[in-house]
Amino acid sequence: MGLEEYKGVFIFAQQVDNEVSSIALELLGKGRDLANDLDNKQVTAVLIGSDVKGLADVLAEYGADRVIVVDDPELKEYRTEPYAHALSSVINEFKPEIMLVGATAIGRDLGPRVSARVHTGLTADCTQLDIGDFPLQPVEGQEQRHKQLLMTRPAFGGNTIATIACPDYRPQMATVRPGVMQKIEPKKGAKAEVVEYNPGFTPNDCYVTIDKVVKEVSSVANIQDAKILVSGGRGVGSPENFKILEDLAACFKGGMVSCSRAVVDSGWKPKDMQVGQTGKTVRPHVYFAIGISGAIQHAAGMEESDIIIAINKDENAPIFDIADYGIVGDLNKIVPELTKKIKAGA
Ligand SMILES: Cc1cc2nc3c(=O)[nH]c(=O)nc-3n(C[C@H](O)[C@H](O)[C@H](O)COP(=O)(O)OP(=O)(O)OC[C@H]3O[C@@H](n4cnc5c(N)ncnc54)[C@H](O)[C@@H]3O)c2cc1C
Repeated sequence: MGLEEYKGVFIFAQQVDNEVSSIALELLGKGRDLANDLDNKQVTAVLIGSDVKGLADVLAEYGADRVIVVDDPELKEYRTEPYAHALSSVINEFKPEIMLVGATAIGRDLGPRVSARVHTGLTADCTQLDIGDFPLQPVEGQEQRHKQLLMTRPAFGGNTIATIACPDYRPQMATVRPGVMQKIEPKKGAKAEVVEYNPGFTPNDCYVTIDKVVKEVSSVANIQDAKILVSGGRGVGSPENFKILEDLAACFKGGMVSCSRAVVDSGWKPKDMQVGQTGKTVRPHVYFAIGISGAIQHAAGMEESDIIIAINKDENAPIFDIADYGIVGDLNKIVPELTKKIKAGA
């Protein structure tokens, strides 16, 4: 494999029902950052679907210099086989240096399959991506490669953080958690070069037949969209007591309630509301952590919030290590008092 043949940062521009997924725009933002540190600064979005060409402009506004469109009726709904064929064919044809895929249900299925087909590695579920030297520190007798993709992710159940590189194969592939990377401000009217590419699709016995699509109606709004999150942990004590958190959240425009995994495991709140390593990654302006101890797996999903306010009766709770403001005391007294003061405009 001639590594130097592989150039540019590519992102898989996930779309569902002909609507670009938020993760695609987040990957474009990160792709732009990474490309700025590489010799080839082009960011390419790979758009796969049926009748999707019109979405290229959205991708351009969010930072794509070029959009490779694979458009075919076989790609109407996501199915593993035709999508894996489409993306691996694009990689073989256009040879990206870096290929980023969202760690969504679709991306987690597609990414590893494609990496195996194009014979490269993949680091799953990354929370940070940088360009740098690998090994990070020079090691005697081992060549230190420059401008490598350094892929960072929690490892061993979130108890440590690992930085992984793929120096000997291309592309360097990663799946990236939704909500971690930031979109750029869209540039209205921006245009990208659009390249149409169709490797041809011949259904085989790996092509799943979709008889019916049943859409889950989510009972909760997406906590990743909230500007202010009032998050409760086991310390809230009962599902009924979440009412005091809902009252606090209702004081703010764009306020929502979220929770820790202990709350979901107890059956108090649905999984959609869970923040953390195995839940959602959130980045609100303000994150209230109420009755949450601040375990590393929880912190992994919220520590990038602009302001963290912790309320906990245990002054040694780890949440105070990452909080900007901390209140030590009983949440049953503090939260209603806080709500009252905010309502009164204090
Ligand atoms: C592989 C793996 C993945 C995981 N993924 C996640 C994840 O995605 N998200 C997640 O949240 N966890 C995750 N966990 C679980 C995590 O390790 C913790 O167990 C969990 O976050 C604890 O939830 P908690 O803080 O609500 O409960 P606890 O740890 O029980 O903390 C409750 C806190 O409430 C405080 N408290 C109690 N009563 C009051 C009161 N009246 N007033 C004020 N404070 C009070 C206590 O002092 C305590 O600090 C994961 C674990 C593993 C092993």
